[in-house]
Amino acid sequence: MPTPISELFETDEFVRRHIGPAPADVEHMLSTLGVGSTEELLDQTLPPSIRSTEPLALGEAVPEVEALRRLRVLADKNEQVTSLIGMGYTGTITPPVIARNVLENPAWYTAYTPYQPEISQGRLEAILNFQTVVTELTGLDVANASLLDEGTAAAEAMTMARRQSKAKTQRFFVHHDTHPQTLAVLHTRAEPVGVELVVGDVDLLDDEAGVFGALFSTPTSSGAVVDWTAAIERVHELGGVAAVVTDPLACVLATPPGRMGADIAVGSAQRFGVPMGFGGPHAAFVAAREKAARSMPGRIVGVSTDTAGRPALRLALQTREQHIRREKATSNICTAQVLLANIAGLYAAWHGPEGLRRIAERVQRLTSIAAAGLRAGGLDVVNDSWFDTLTVRVDDVDEAVASALDAGFNIRRSADSVGITFDETSTLDTVAAIVTALGGTPVDDGGLDEAPDGLTSSLRRSDDFMTQSVFARYHSEHEMLRYLRRLSDKDLALDRTMIPLGSCTMKLNATSEMVPITWPEFADIHPFAPDDQTVGYREMIADLEQRLATITGYDAVSVQPNAGSQGEFAGLLAIRAFHRSQGDDQRTVCLIPESAHGTNAASAVMAGFDVVVVACDDAGNVDVDDLESKIDGVADQLGALMITYPSTHGVFETAVGDICARVHDAGGQVYVDGANLNALVGLAQPGKFGADVSHLNLHKTFCIPHGGGGPGVGPVGVREHLRPFLPGHPLRSDAAVGAVSAAPHGSAGILPIPWMYLEMMGGAGLTQATEVAIIAANYIAARLDEHYPVLYRGEHGRVAHECIVDLRTITKDTGVSVDDVAKRLMDYGFHAPTMSFPVAGTLMIEPTESETVREIDRFCDAMIAIRTEIERVASGEWAIDDSPLRHAPHTSEELLGDWERPYSRELGAFPVDGLRQAKYFPPVSRIDGAYGDRNLVCSCEPLEALARPAAPVG
Ligand SMILES: *Cc1c(COP(=O)(O)O)cnc(C)c1O
Repeated sequence: MPTPISELFETDEFVRRHIGPAPADVEHMLSTLGVGSTEELLDQTLPPSIRSTEPLALGEAVPEVEALRRLRVLADKNEQVTSLIGMGYTGTITPPVIARNVLENPAWYTAYTPYQPEISQGRLEAILNFQTVVTELTGLDVANASLLDEGTAAAEAMTMARRQSKAKTQRFFVHHDTHPQTLAVLHTRAEPVGVELVVGDVDLLDDEAGVFGALFSTPTSSGAVVDWTAAIERVHELGGVAAVVTDPLACVLATPPGRMGADIAVGSAQRFGVPMGFGGPHAAFVAAREKAARSMPGRIVGVSTDTAGRPALRLALQTREQHIRREKATSNICTAQVLLANIAGLYAAWHGPEGLRRIAERVQRLTSIAAAGLRAGGLDVVNDSWFDTLTVRVDDVDEAVASALDAGFNIRRSADSVGITFDETSTLDTVAAIVTALGGTPVDDGGLDEAPDGLTSSLRRSDDFMTQSVFARYHSEHEMLRYLRRLSDKDLALDRTMIPLGSCTMKLNATSEMVPITWPEFADIHPFAPDDQTVGYREMIADLEQRLATITGYDAVSVQPNAGSQGEFAGLLAIRAFHRSQGDDQRTVCLIPESAHGTNAASAVMAGFDVVVVACDDAGNVDVDDLESKIDGVADQLGALMITYPSTHGVFETAVGDICARVHDAGGQVYVDGANLNALVGLAQPGKFGADVSHLNLHKTFCIPHGGGGPGVGPVGVREHLRPFLPGHPLRSDAAVGAVSAAPHGSAGILPIPWMYLEMMGGAGLTQATEVAIIAANYIAARLDEHYPVLYRGEHGRVAHECIVDLRTITKDTGVSVDDVAKRLMDYGFHAPTMSFPVAGTLMIEPTESETVREIDRFCDAMIAIRTEIERVASGEWAIDDSPLRHAPHTSEELLGDWERPYSRELGAFPVDGLRQAKYFPPVSRIDGAYGDRNLVCSCEPLEALARPAAPVG
């Protein structure tokens, strides 16, 4: 009998490619666990009270090719029209060498946030380039590794100003000629923390009530290039802090904010090679004066040295991270936009200062030619100055917009005017066509002599910038290609090894999921394009929101928040607005267990809550007695309880239903942090087991790659009563809660990734993925427990989708720390698990469903081999300071020359035989964090100049 033809079609199913272990491997893991079936293990793991009774209603899995075809149908429903809308989003050309070798390259996009700097030197260097570009162009001293978008960056500038200013007022001035979406995000962020926004012209700065800070734009929203020096002086007289929103390309030609005396500059680096993507993801930036470095939000890459005195990069001032500062954090930002920041920094390196100047001059000249042509036709161009944008007063806005569209352009629409913005992709033909469409008379370059050029010499920048060698070296494609390869070769990403980071869900980012994000029908769409041009996008988004609602059991989902942290903020704002709608303005306390992720407390403070910490018991569960007493204590001020489920300890707490009920009985709402949804999909639904609202991390459970620290998407899901309080947008609706992101659908450009994932997995495939993730975590717990005790388990001795192994006793007895084990894993070719979160002195391991048993075993074998090395320290054979654990990671250079260590070179670099065929060497040895923090250097310099004299090795 031949195999039935139907079975011959099944072999290429995506589900079995995404899920690492084959059925026989699953059997093997289950038998190691001593259970007869998946069902038996799940019975021991999940509380029956929360188990879903119905299978996940998401339809059948669709093969890769068919899923791509279906998405293509949606993409084709988007209409690509040349955008002159501007408003912070412009056309750009991603240099193909960067598009293919960074944006489309898993060595870059599957990397994790560089918390383990020795295996992240490549991307750290790329981020340092980005920071340098930002400081050079804005004329300020320090910049961070990116923020989420221009709107949230402006909000971060506002809160930074509040921290720095000595003025005793809660008033913050915003110049009226600011992009409307930026103003909207500022409003959303100001109100809960008691900041009063004063929006208007600079004369308001003379009001005696004063301000603690101010935000200006140049170019302004309407296109004027303004020297704000006098206004900034006025702000300083008031004791305030001045921030300027700017455009990095405009800064190439015009006086940058730093030269006007600004304390802070923010903006978006989108036009440096990152497609518009219907609103994101793009890297926003913040730059500030040196003295403000410590109050900057987000991560900053800094220069330090390793044990041999080599210059080495790392995240500076890591103790400022919200993981540690919690409710005292400077911001809730965690995942940022690193992949896009890297692209922007590399774009700048590719063009160099001369190339950028040519692009900027060209854009500015085209704008001048357009202004002359419009004026020659008798049109009323409002601007006296311009870089790339003109505002034109017209009698009939609809007619102007329609004739522009007839000519093939989208333009900006305002009450009595239209706006046009030119960019890197604009040509003389673009200018002639739009000028004609608006009723002007095209002029040529020669016709400009008499016309003002919009950027008088007093507004022009005269200093040199980007003089560092990195901006001179990579202008040939070969040099750039090899630079990109060299950088990515320094790093460990998912294309080399499993990255078993607890809480981060580093699963497969399948190629088929990634392919559509660079289709121009998705990539080249302006976020404010007319609805009839974005039908496919909006169908895809609505479909995705619906499926996420089905998975979570909520009634409505919004994908607007562009990171988990922003989803938390949006969800807590919904709770706050709900209480207020009930007349319960006093419900301002948010209970948070001590084990929570640091963003939780930071988000609660941003949303206007007071945080009260709830204890955990010895088993790692929420201490129900303490919860009860805190609920009683805060009485009718109880606003919310914010918990993570399964808990950050990696277990399914049985009491969760009861906990939710107690909070509801006391009038509070329940927020479940959905970062651990990879343990729930298909098995349980937070919207059904008692929660009112959750955020999800599409960059964890739903396959958006981590990008070395972003992008992410953090949708917020709510039950029906909270639906009216989902985030709104000034250009879409007037919802009760304002915008949390600058674009209506946040980072829409990467939503094809989770859409493809859901389409290719189907309901049954997703459920199976969750089951395998739980089986694999329990398998690791079983294999490692006798070597490193597993800290927390559920009632029946099982963990959820991750497990915490406890090194504290080992550390006490031998001196070997979690750091030593993490660094030693690099010698074995692995990325370390999550270190010291949620419990100091522990490692949290999450394999996900995508790792094969072979890879999981390779990791467990490495951990066990390291345990035997620890024994040799314990037995006194090696002094801890001269052990391979403390000397880890070993560079190739260290193996040369004299060798005076008590262990062999082989053991140092090739602790297991498998490494002999393919060995990854970190480019630097262990990095000295404290040195980098004391000597803060956060931009590129000639690295040789920074190296301190070599310390003796050995
Ligand atoms: C990752 C994570 C967050 C934060 O999400 P971001 O997207 O990084 O802002 C919040 N809570 C938990 C438990 C997480 O693991």
